[in-house]
Amino acid sequence: MQQLNRVNIKCLSKREIEAFIEQKGLPLYRASQLKHWIYERGVSGIEEITEFSKELRHKLSSMAFISSLVLVQKLKSSDGTEKFLFSLEDGNTIESVLIYEDGRQTICVSSQVGCAMGCSFCLTGQSGFIRNLKAYEIIDQIISVNRLISPGKISNVVLMGMGEPLANFEEVVGAICRIVDFIGISKRKITLSTAGIVPKMLLFAGKAPEVNLAVSLNATTDEERSELMPVNKKYPLASLMAACRKYPLRPSRKITFEYVLIDGKNDSIQDASRLVHLLKGIRCKVNLIPLNINPESGLKKPSDEKILAFQNVLLNKRIRAFIRESKGRDISAACGQLRAGRAGK
Ligand code: SAH
Ligand code: SF4
Repeated sequence: MQQLNRVNIKCLSKREIEAFIEQKGLPLYRASQLKHWIYERGVSGIEEITEFSKELRHKLSSMAFISSLVLVQKLKSSDGTEKFLFSLEDGNTIESVLIYEDGRQTICVSSQVGCAMGCSFCLTGQSGFIRNLKAYEIIDQIISVNRLISPGKISNVVLMGMGEPLANFEEVVGAICRIVDFIGISKRKITLSTAGIVPKMLLFAGKAPEVNLAVSLNATTDEERSELMPVNKKYPLASLMAACRKYPLRPSRKITFEYVLIDGKNDSIQDASRLVHLLKGIRCKVNLIPLNINPESGLKKPSDEKILAFQNVLLNKRIRAFIRESKGRDISAACGQLRAGRAGK
């Protein structure tokens, strides 16, 4: 991204920052200082880099700038979950959610503005696709939240916010590299969640082998799944499960399967038995997520009894299955709810 011919330093890779510094006749250690101030200190402008002299800041500002997200709204849930609505340079908005759990501070970041996958239960999917995020806009969510919660520090990243990350492949892979290189969060602490873009899954394994994979399964027959997740018409269950079986998992790693439980749609005992069958031979765990209701979809969350009965079928077959209540219900923390809420105002 250029602004009056000035380069956005956040668009540059490690090597490109070094090349930029060298081209300007500056010593190489300035590149490390720049990276430190941008990615660890979270400055939103070159003028904030007080380690640089006034002249150096002035010189750099004439050639470069540091983009940043603008916080539009911040909400805190009674369970501690925090939600941030950020505005991008083009006026679009995205959400990031910060979850405090088991001593970890996990940020759930968006990878797109909206989503083209159109899942019927998902508010982001129902509000359509606007555009892909750039790698720096994905990383900026982490930098901005780190700064806002200072002195706290984000320990884990999940690409599970708005959008389908594998539909924005290059920028997402680029963002992951920089999260590791610049922010210092290891690949093992990053999870990418996909609705099942089959050809991209194996490609992703080659590009980011140590990143954890989560697959949003959500149904056990093609008929059911295609109704809830139209992407299933292109990549049906057989191809999705084959890709999961082929996925080159590191020792002791598991694929996480997410299964949103929807009353009368995918929550029967037969569904649970079919799920057991589908997962045979895959090292995995299952997160059962009772539907976070959005009134427009007309879909309902199953009763607690049905949720527990579903879980029991899996547990009885020795599948690790957890019920993951959505965090931050009181602040619309589910995917796309805050953005949609504001758009409606
Ligand atoms: N597009 C990716 C990642 C973003 S969605 C994917 O689909 O995996 C992240 C998760 O939120 C998915 O597992 C999705 O099934 C779940 N989700 C979406 N809407 C939901 C809702 N209303 N209630 C509960 N979970 C929901
Ligand atoms: Fe997109 Fe994921 Fe929502 Fe489906 S569940 S519409 S893939 S964000």
